[in-house]
Amino acid sequence: MMNWKTHPSFDGHEDVVFVGGEAQGFAGIIAVHSTAIGPAAGGCRIWDYDSADAALTDALRLSRGMTYKNAMADLPLGGGKAVIYRINTERADAFQSFGEAVEKLNGRYITAEDVGATVADMRAIARSTSYVAGIPKEAGQAGGDPSPMTALGVFVSIKALLGGYVQGRTIAVQGVGSVGYNLCKLLVDDGAKLIIADVNKTNLHRAQALGAEIAPVDQIHAAKADLFSPCALGAGLNAETIPELAAPIICGGANNQLATDEDGARLVARGITYAPDYVVNAGGIINVSAEYLGEAADVVEGRVRAIAPRVLKVLDIAKSDGITPQQAADRIVRERIAAAKRA
Ligand code: NAD
Repeated sequence: MMNWKTHPSFDGHEDVVFVGGEAQGFAGIIAVHSTAIGPAAGGCRIWDYDSADAALTDALRLSRGMTYKNAMADLPLGGGKAVIYRINTERADAFQSFGEAVEKLNGRYITAEDVGATVADMRAIARSTSYVAGIPKEAGQAGGDPSPMTALGVFVSIKALLGGYVQGRTIAVQGVGSVGYNLCKLLVDDGAKLIIADVNKTNLHRAQALGAEIAPVDQIHAAKADLFSPCALGAGLNAETIPELAAPIICGGANNQLATDEDGARLVARGITYAPDYVVNAGGIINVSAEYLGEAADVVEGRVRAIAPRVLKVLDIAKSDGITPQQAADRIVRERIAAAKRA
């Protein structure tokens, strides 16, 4: 078993549990980063990692990101994340076993969908635990697939960053899966032009049908656009891609877009405005939180729309204090967590 407390991505995580095994039909990791503000909430990612260490790195980074995202969105939740890196039985059975592992944490971790997971998977998890969200509820109640709300939060942020309208503007969207596709629909409905890329041909053609132009997967970041929106996987903004970026603004739904902290400074040096990912992409967890707390569906949209002014505020602080947008956002969050710990 790997020692997570000495791992380079360890950041004071409260707990990391290696879950599953041959008999359970899956292998995964649940990382509880912080419960200072509330139970650690964050989705479950299904991914074919190159190694167990890569899975642990992702779980540690993503769970920390959830602490920051949830605190920034003013939710009564801490941060956690699960990754499943092997399924060796019937899928629903594997997720039911994963639910048993979630149940054993007694509510310290609440799960939901992330990359690779579906509503059906959440239903299977719900057979063994109530600490799960992302399941459609009765009319009027918050719940279900969080990605449309994530996309809405990205959309309102893009609009604010482009001065209030997207009509006639060109947006390059990297990854047109659940979040990216919903975002593309909102953008097209408001008159934007799209350039898209995706490694998955089915998803690519679904979004192409909205009238989008296609760019090669390894060139989308360099597309001539008014704004670049990373909506695939993390670390897309790095030492190789940043010098090639052509859009002056970056605002997307993907988690952990900056490969390293230095990349935030690289973007500033190039004069590119970067809207910190976890401020922008909180719409899904805002929906999950309302679902988990049994709130009405109509509270969600207003909270998601409030992401846009928050993004502008973070960028203002960064500018006035001479720090990167990511540093400005992190500082706000750390102050909130410290206040919660004192209380
Ligand atoms: P998804 O799996 O539905 O979509 C991801 C898409 O990216 C897929 O179509 C995939 O083929 C594509 N992709 C993967 N690698 C690519 C590459 N190198 N170039 C281009 N396309 C590539 O996942 P999703 O739910 O849409 O999530 C997308 C991102 O947003 C992830 O980083 C996720 O963590 C983040 N996010 C999602 C939510 C949510 O509500 N689903 C909430 C917050 C953050």
